[in-house]
Amino acid sequence: IDFQDMNLSRHLLRAVTSIGYVTPTPIQSKVIPLALMAKDICACASTGSGKTAAFMLPVLERLMYRPRNNPATRVLVLEPTRELAAQCRDVAVKLAQFTDVTFSLIVGGVADKSQKVELRNRPDVIIATPGRLIDHVHNTQSFDLQSIEVLIMDEADRLLELGFRDEVDEIVRKCPKGRQTMLISATMTDEVDQLANLSLHQPIRLFI
Ligand code: AMP
Repeated sequence: IDFQDMNLSRHLLRAVTSIGYVTPTPIQSKVIPLALMAKDICACASTGSGKTAAFMLPVLERLMYRPRNNPATRVLVLEPTRELAAQCRDVAVKLAQFTDVTFSLIVGGVADKSQKVELRNRPDVIIATPGRLIDHVHNTQSFDLQSIEVLIMDEADRLLELGFRDEVDEIVRKCPKGRQTMLISATMTDEVDQLANLSLHQPIRLFI
């Protein structure tokens, strides 16, 4: 299956072409059609597989048709480190270059005052590390996770290895029940499996 056959809007196909992706990677071929059908997904995949575009393209497709008069943060991506969050944001911005979808990077090491302002402007997508995001959930007035429609936990094994279990659990519990959830992990440990059981609803399991 080719990118052209995936029911992605022409603005996204144009971005894919301009970045230089010609053929979808295996994870992209599998995840994109399922994610467009709003399925929950548990995928075993590592860096280099093309996983970022696999979860971002369906999310951007959903956001293309959002109401413009009522901004809301609808997508949350959790990443284990600042560097991975920044990389994910860079890919996302390139894929969204012909759309007006907005992003906010919420990570530690940056003054959180400016992040508060960004959050109040209700970016469509937040890409965050769990610690800083939870700080904002606790301390930033009028910011909550009630409008999240899609939750993505990238590098779930590393999220847990780095000790973010409690933060991730709390974030999952604070997102609406009817959301779509995608979990991506290089390895499937018992802990990742527990997180999958807690957060995913009838997931499709993919091993790439
Ligand atoms: P990721 O697994 O998301 O970290 O992506 C790994 C690398 O693969 C990145 O440098 C992407 O730009 C590249 N990439 C992702 N999808 C494709 C594709 N369909 N064709 C060629 N390169 C790709």
